[in-house]
Amino acid sequence: MTEETPTKVDMEKIVSLCRRRGFIFPSSEIYGGLSSCWDYGPLGVELKRNIKEAWWRAVVQERDDVVGLDTSILMHPQTWVASGHLEGFADPLVECKGCHLRWRSDELEGDKCPSCGGELTEPRKFNLMFKTFMGPVEEEASVVYLRPETAQGMFVNFQNVLNTTRKRLPFGIAQIGKAFRNEITTGNFIFRSREFEQMEIEFFVKPGTDGEWFNYWLEERLNWYVKLGIKKENLRLREHAKGELAHYARACYDIDYLFPMGWAELEGIANRGDFDLVQHASFSGKDLSYFDEEAKEHIIPYVIEPSAGVDRPFLAFLCDAYAEEPDKDEIRVLLHLHPALAPIKVAVLPLSRREQLVAVAKEIYADLRQHWMVSYDDAQSIGRRYRRQDEIGTPFCVTIDFQSLEDNQVTIRDRDSMNQIRVPIAELQKTLVAKLEGEDLFVLPPGGMIWKEESKE
Ligand code: ATP
Repeated sequence: MTEETPTKVDMEKIVSLCRRRGFIFPSSEIYGGLSSCWDYGPLGVELKRNIKEAWWRAVVQERDDVVGLDTSILMHPQTWVASGHLEGFADPLVECKGCHLRWRSDELEGDKCPSCGGELTEPRKFNLMFKTFMGPVEEEASVVYLRPETAQGMFVNFQNVLNTTRKRLPFGIAQIGKAFRNEITTGNFIFRSREFEQMEIEFFVKPGTDGEWFNYWLEERLNWYVKLGIKKENLRLREHAKGELAHYARACYDIDYLFPMGWAELEGIANRGDFDLVQHASFSGKDLSYFDEEAKEHIIPYVIEPSAGVDRPFLAFLCDAYAEEPDKDEIRVLLHLHPALAPIKVAVLPLSRREQLVAVAKEIYADLRQHWMVSYDDAQSIGRRYRRQDEIGTPFCVTIDFQSLEDNQVTIRDRDSMNQIRVPIAELQKTLVAKLEGEDLFVLPPGGMIWKEESKE
């Protein structure tokens, strides 16, 4: 993290919104919480699912060269010997409290971080992997680890995927799942926790083509964030210096986001070369090569790995979407979330609790719920209800008023512009589909109207 100007929103506001509206709670809160573990509430779980769904759609569903996988969290312990994790994390480590770089304390001169001069934690003989025991006996022979990354599940299944899908190079495997790291320093809300989720791709290519595929994935992944609404000026690529590269990496770039605490990593894109397949072939004694039909020879593919978290993008999407606008004598807090990410797509709001209005509203609510996450709210004034939806990023509110009983029309109110349009109930779902997919389509009946919220309220 650097000293550069942070984004306007401060972390306190995000944490407070998440708490207040049920996005995120401290884990096991009634027992005082568990350090750096978090529970996602009713709205948080929706946002998280939508992030994962958008990623899966972009990297698996819409491509024909990537397939999905869901491997177990507990893996054969040899996996971690081969991957280098067992050895790689077993040094006496100190971590910089400022930039979070980790150093072997036995190799350091002085007591400051060699990179940024920051203060260092106490040295610990430290392996980042959580250990547990498989089976009823707690002995060394039954030690297994909670995976610190999802990647290894994809490497050990390389031949299984190749044999069952008949994919040819270049092709990728994608996986979303939990990962666990016994981080030395945690903090900044969900930015660095001990249990988190990852969305990773292992993209296998012919050696020699790895450079161009590396560039391809850098651009692809950077644009994924932009397409989902993150402002370009809040994103940057940062190349790892040679000394900073992980043991397996030939090259690595981070996609950084300008978080409230400064620039920090959202996703890492690494060229892992043939390190993992060579290691697993050697430790398992199994052939993990690929037969290149053109060259008529066996080769070990190189791997490009775009490795994202879920929780860090979650935080970035929230920070980027957060806005406060003056609204009469108050402040309107809103989340400009992309409709694909918004936890609730539509809120159905009857103007009053009068029976006839409720009947129509409930029918609309039941109908729209077939298509999206929809919420129903009939408590307090309509203005307050709009604000409640703005604060959680609901793109559209549908209001049913007394006129609806006569003309079978309802009002759609847009979160960002606060414009309102009146549409026939029969056209409602179609109009919302178009609007949620980004078309600014008005389906106005004869005599229909468009207006701005303030002028009506
Ligand atoms: P850092 O240097 O910030 O610890 P890293 O380089 O160790 O991160 P990677 O191993 O590249 O992280 O993991 C890929 C992605 O997984 C990261 O970009 C991040 O989004 C996510 N991630 C890694 N560690 C954590 C963590 N402790 N909490 C939340 N997300 C994490």
